[in-house]
Amino acid sequence: MVVGAGVVGLSCALRLLEAGHRVDVLARDLPLETTSSVAAAIWYPYLALPQDKVTAWGTAAYAEFARQADQGVDGVVMRRGTELLRRRTPVPWWVDAVPALDRVEPRAPYADAWSFETPVIDMPRYLRWLSERVLDAGGTLTRMALARLPEGPLVVNCSGLGSRALAGDATTRPVRGQVVVVEQFGLSEWWVAEEGPEGQVPTYVVPRTDDVVLGGTDDDGDWSRTPSPEVADDILRRASALVPDVAKARVLRHKVGLRPARAEVRLEEELHLVEQYLAIQRVRFNDRLTVGLRSTDDARQALVPQLILQPVVENAVRHGIAPRESGGSVWVLAERPDGRLRLVVEDDGVGISDGPSANAGAGIGLGGLRSRLAHLYGDDQRVEVAPRLPSGTRVTIEIPYRTTHDR
Ligand SMILES: Cc1cc2nc3c(=O)[nH]c(=O)nc-3n(C[C@H](O)[C@H](O)[C@H](O)COP(=O)(O)OP(=O)(O)OC[C@H]3O[C@@H](n4cnc5c(N)ncnc54)[C@H](O)[C@@H]3O)c2cc1C
Repeated sequence: MVVGAGVVGLSCALRLLEAGHRVDVLARDLPLETTSSVAAAIWYPYLALPQDKVTAWGTAAYAEFARQADQGVDGVVMRRGTELLRRRTPVPWWVDAVPALDRVEPRAPYADAWSFETPVIDMPRYLRWLSERVLDAGGTLTRMALARLPEGPLVVNCSGLGSRALAGDATTRPVRGQVVVVEQFGLSEWWVAEEGPEGQVPTYVVPRTDDVVLGGTDDDGDWSRTPSPEVADDILRRASALVPDVAKARVLRHKVGLRPARAEVRLEEELHLVEQYLAIQRVRFNDRLTVGLRSTDDARQALVPQLILQPVVENAVRHGIAPRESGGSVWVLAERPDGRLRLVVEDDGVGISDGPSANAGAGIGLGGLRSRLAHLYGDDQRVEVAPRLPSGTRVTIEIPYRTTHDR
């Protein structure tokens, strides 16, 4: 049984049918009513972690969609496009998932740009194609709103945001996305542009055969499915600035979808990221950097905001160790004292009083971390930056200990 008839549910159902299984798809919303039908939908890793897994999954998805485009599957097309960036930017972490990514000349006001070919999928057409394949292969598709996951020898949960209730995962939350669909005006390449230095949501203009999708927005925690006229005006303004012909195109539709997201990840994923980062730094520093990572089993299962450790460890390496000729050590400790999660990052580098981070943690990395933690946990959190004796800095972070099983 497959629960959910979005792109994930239908794709799983088709694969299982091709492998010779009997498959019944149960879904509250039929394919054209799902979040999947709202997506732009360009292949591009966005709001997804961990990086190594997303790169591997992205590589497989890219290859499969390229194959489908080659075979003329309805709605799947390979299109070249350009991403415009506000600052000179290193190649993205997922670069290995695309066959080629070319730096191109940015136009004002952008400072950098790259171009690559990627699958672009006309979702309503593709979902229709997938549904037909599922039914042709002997599967069934039934509208059914479930209160809990059904019993069965094999149940595949593809319920997107529905997992919050169906799988009892209260950490799943909506990230609302609104799009404006305009008539095709002869556009064949997609455009994505970074909006500003504060990490605002990028603007995108994605052509399909008969229309063009404009976005984007991502409103964390917003459950409204009603398109907002103000948001639509803002999208049209941003998209016209990016591709001026948008301004002349007739608006066809306004759509909203709720992406499933978790603001938090398990600490083990974050530790893995830090491990990878430190491994790269050790190569860069030759033998000048030593590293110690220690964590208890229960601490590794704790839910933490994404990138809770990475900026702190990066500060320790860049501002603590790098300025010192002789190098030094970075230690990371994760433990669970009395219902709390405590993370400690220490270095024996130049220290906060005589190093560049003399303002004791008001820098971009720690400042951003402090405000994120305050937003998520109110007063029930602590970030402390202190000198370490005889040299270096100790950063201690404490948040409530929670796992995916806590409601
Ligand atoms: C504006 C916008 C733009 C996007 N652009 C892109 C893009 O360019 N590229 C990209 O890769 N992704 C994009 N996405 C994200 C993409 O749409 C989603 O990641 C994807 O559609 C998720 O598919 P899904 O099958 O997991 O979930 P969904 O499409 O949400 O399907 C979930 C299914 O589960 C069913 N279900 C839920 N609860 C229950 C229940 N209790 N009982 C029975 N059935 C239930 C639903 O009815 C539905 O059938 C975008 C999303 C939005 C909103």
